[in-house]
Amino acid sequence: MPVLVMKFGGTSVATLDRIRRAAKRVGVEVAKGYDVIVIVSAMSGKTNELVGWVTEISPMYDAREYDAVVSSGENITAGSMALTLQEMEIPARSWQGWQVPVLTNSAHSSARIEEIPSVNIAAKFAEGMRVAVVSGFQGVSPEKRITTLGRGGSDTTAVAFAAALKAERCDIYTDVDGVYTTDPRVSPKARKLEKIAYEEMLELASLGAKVLQTRSVELAMRFNVPLRVLSSFEEPNDQAGTLVCAEEDIMESNVVAGVAFSRDEAKMTLVSVADRPGIAATIFTGLSEAGVNVDMIVQNIAEEGRTDMTWSCPTDQVTRAEKAMSDAKDSGVINYHELIADKDVAKVSVVGIGMRSHTGVAAKMFRVLSAEGINIRVITTSEIKISVLIDRKYVELAVQALHDSFDLDKTS
Ligand code: ADP
Ligand code: ASP
Ligand code: MG
Repeated sequence: MPVLVMKFGGTSVATLDRIRRAAKRVGVEVAKGYDVIVIVSAMSGKTNELVGWVTEISPMYDAREYDAVVSSGENITAGSMALTLQEMEIPARSWQGWQVPVLTNSAHSSARIEEIPSVNIAAKFAEGMRVAVVSGFQGVSPEKRITTLGRGGSDTTAVAFAAALKAERCDIYTDVDGVYTTDPRVSPKARKLEKIAYEEMLELASLGAKVLQTRSVELAMRFNVPLRVLSSFEEPNDQAGTLVCAEEDIMESNVVAGVAFSRDEAKMTLVSVADRPGIAATIFTGLSEAGVNVDMIVQNIAEEGRTDMTWSCPTDQVTRAEKAMSDAKDSGVINYHELIADKDVAKVSVVGIGMRSHTGVAAKMFRVLSAEGINIRVITTSEIKISVLIDRKYVELAVQALHDSFDLDKTS
């Protein structure tokens, strides 16, 4: 029988009533003749609560125990969903990540899936089971310890299962009815996209649009999994939601597909470091060894053999970065005057594959921001995106102004 993957996010399984509603959706697909793999998140708010417990017990927690605690929310929803389906007389069974097993590397709290042997689940389908309900977000390391896939990781579980079991499609049920030109909670003019290319979705996700975890889009693109994002609160039909698909399957598109933003950014400047070969290597090796994910980088023009080095990183990594730099200074590897951290910044990006063949997008973006009196602190670009770092208080204004001026509320 053909296989379908259906993933339900936290708000879609937040109460027993919502689990029943989701189970009914699953029942519709079973009745159509699909064997279904249901991937569930924890009930909304649960993972945050568990993360809060871990950091309260131990601020510099052991990531193995973080995973042991934080992965548990998904087990409640998986078992409850299987029970609900059984009450509807649909043969269903729940599976935790390690039971499948979802094999990952040992990078606790942000592990990567390496393989999902499908034999166990396929054998159960062959015996007449119609729905396998799998706890999202979880895996098991080579050391046989529970791992988690990073926040939002159930999306990645879903796509990985779709690839492993050669599913016809992977449906991501969430609290919005598709992928929008920007977060509909920030811009009332955001427009739902019927289709979006993998590459655009990949950029939007990695630049802050949390509707899909970045890694899930990467996997979908690599294995060509048709991915649909749709609402679990509306009656679905075959046209519902947004299809994330190959560029060739999209007939028309705007130059800019969407605007993404991330408030979780900090800007750090190392003032007056020696301007000599190897200095950037020393600084960024130190940061990387301390587990700091550096995003944007700018080096000032040198004066009298000294320069300033600026980078951005997630806000919660500032302390780690400060420690890495002061350790490097104490051990004499680098010498600097001071390290300034600004936690009140945010990143706003415009994304679109149309930029490959259109010039002037960056200039227009800068003009729009300047007309609103917004100062740009750092800029980075790639072939299909332009990102700027600005003061956090201007995020909504910047997103709305860019959305308006690139006419994102209108189809091309
Ligand atoms: P789930 O719990 O179902 O995984 P998430 O909260 O992780 O749901 O993702 C859905 C949310 O993503 C939406 O509520 C919306 O606010 C946010 N979002 C951000 N950018 C976008 C976008 N471009 N299109 C749609 N939703 C977006
Ligand atoms: N429950 C996890 C989280 O909140 C995984 C997910 O929902 O995708 O990050
Ligand atoms: Mg999510």
